[in-house]
Amino acid sequence: MRDIGVLGAGISGLFTAHFLGGDVEVLEADDRVGGLARCFGGEGFRSDIGGHILFSKDKEALAHELAVLGDNRRRGVRANKVLYQGLHVKYPFENGIDVLPKEDIVHILHSFVDNPHKAPPTNFREWMYHVFGDGLTDRYLLPYNEKIWKTPPEQMSLEWVDRVPRPPLIDLIRTAVGIQTEGYTHQLYFDYPKTGGFESLPKALLAKLAGKVSTGFCAARIAPVDGGWAVVSASGEERRYRRLVATIPINALFAALDGVPPEVQAAADALRFNSLRVALVGVRSADLPAYTALYVPDPASLYHRVCYNQVFSPDMVPAGCSSVSCEITVAPGSALDAWSDEQVLGRVVDDLGRDGIVDPATVCYRAVHREKYAYVIYDLGYSDRVRVVREFVESRGIHLAGRFAEYRYVNTDACVRRALDLSRELRGGDIAPEARVSDAFVAEVARG
Ligand SMILES: Cc1cc2nc3c(=O)[nH]c(=O)nc-3n(C[C@H](O)[C@H](O)[C@H](O)COP(=O)(O)OP(=O)(O)OC[C@H]3O[C@@H](n4cnc5c(N)ncnc54)[C@H](O)[C@@H]3O)c2cc1C
Repeated sequence: MRDIGVLGAGISGLFTAHFLGGDVEVLEADDRVGGLARCFGGEGFRSDIGGHILFSKDKEALAHELAVLGDNRRRGVRANKVLYQGLHVKYPFENGIDVLPKEDIVHILHSFVDNPHKAPPTNFREWMYHVFGDGLTDRYLLPYNEKIWKTPPEQMSLEWVDRVPRPPLIDLIRTAVGIQTEGYTHQLYFDYPKTGGFESLPKALLAKLAGKVSTGFCAARIAPVDGGWAVVSASGEERRYRRLVATIPINALFAALDGVPPEVQAAADALRFNSLRVALVGVRSADLPAYTALYVPDPASLYHRVCYNQVFSPDMVPAGCSSVSCEITVAPGSALDAWSDEQVLGRVVDDLGRDGIVDPATVCYRAVHREKYAYVIYDLGYSDRVRVVREFVESRGIHLAGRFAEYRYVNTDACVRRALDLSRELRGGDIAPEARVSDAFVAEVARG
C-alpha cells in the first residue's frame, strides 16, 4: 500500500503531489495532465481553456508557480477593454468611463454618490446596485454577469463577491475628467509562459513528478480497505493508499464512493455549475489590436470574453497570424448545451465580424473546446449544500483540494495555497525540501 493517493492531475493534484514529495501517486482520468490548465488547438494555433494568466495577492503561492515555470515565463501588462455600444472602453469599466457620452458619465457618478440602494444587500443583484449604483450596474455589471453566470443574479449569493473589487470614488472622479486610473491593480501585471501556453505549468510539474503520475486512470470506485483506500479504475485496475486526497469534481468523487447518505447525495446533486465552450479562431493577419482581452456584455454576441492569444505570447500563433479565443458559458441542459461545435463556430465567426473584432474573410483556423465543469455557481443554497458535502467527506477521512472538489470559484493561486496548507498538514511539518522556494525569491516576487 502506498502512502498517499491524489485523485486528479489538474493544478491542485499536481501541486499537492509536488509539495508532498515521497511516496505519493497521482491518478488522472484524462490522457493528459492539466485539467482546466490544458491547451487545445492545431496548425500552430494554441489556446488556453479560456485565457489564463499568473497573478496573485498570495505571493508565496505565486512564487511556487513561477518557480515551477523557471525561465519559461514573460511579463505582461493587462490591456483589457470592454465593448460597450461600439466603444472600446478601458477595463475595468469604471476606469474607462471618460470615453462615454457626458450624460452617461453624469448618471454613473450621480448614482454612485447618491445611491438609493442603501439597504444591506441579500443577493448578488442587490449587491451590484448597492456597491456600484444604477449607472455602472445597468450599463455593464448586470448584463455582463447575467451573460457569464446564466443565472438570475437575484438567485446568487454573496459568498464570492469579494473577488470583485469596489471602485474608490476618487478613481471614478479622476476617470470622469479624463485622468488615467487603474483598477484591479493586483492583476495589472501578470506572468505567462513564453512557450507552450498555460499548459506549460502542469507539464513542468509532470516533469518534476516523473513516475508518480498515472494518466488514463479514471477513479470509478473508491472503497475503504485495511485502514486505507482502494481506488479502482473503470477498467478494473486497483491501487491502494493509506491516505487519499481528492481534487476531482465532488460529483465524480461521489459517483465512485460507496455509502453516500441520500441527503448528502442530494446536496451534491443540487450544487450548480456552468460548462464552457472556448472557440479558437485563427486569422491570416497580424493586425489585431494589442489587447489582452475584450469583455462583451451585449447579449447579442454569444461570447462574454474574447482573448487575443498573441498578446499573451507570440508562441500561441503561427508567424504572421493572430487568433482570438472566445469564451461562452453554457448552463448544463440548456438549449445552447445542445449546439454542435459547428453551430457554435458559425455563430461566433458571424458575431466577431459584426462586432468588428475579426474579418470573417481572414479566418483560417477554427476549433472548439468543451469543458463540463468550468464555473462554480454560488446560488442561494450554496453554503448549506457545500457544508453538508464537505463535512461528509471529512468524516470519511478524505482530504479535498481544488476548484470542483472543494466547490469554490478559485484561480490557480488558491489551488496552490490549498495544496501548500494541506501538504504541510499531511507531512506534519513543511513541504518536501525539493519543492521549497527561498524567502528571497518570495520577496522578489512580492516586489513584482
Ligand atoms: C475560463 C477560465 C479562465 C481562468 N483563468 C484563470 C487565470 O487567469 N488564472 C488562474 O490562476 N486561474 C484561472 N482559472 C482557474 C483555473 O483554471 C482553476 O482554478 C484550476 O485550473 C483548477 O485546478 P484543479 O486541479 O483544482 O481542477 P481541474 O483543473 O478541474 O482538475 C481536476 C482533474 O481531475 C480529473 N478527473 C476528473 N474526474 C476524475 C476521476 N474520476 N478520476 C481521475 N481523475 C479525474 C480531471 O480530468 C482533471 O484533470 C480559469 C478558469 C476558467 C474556467
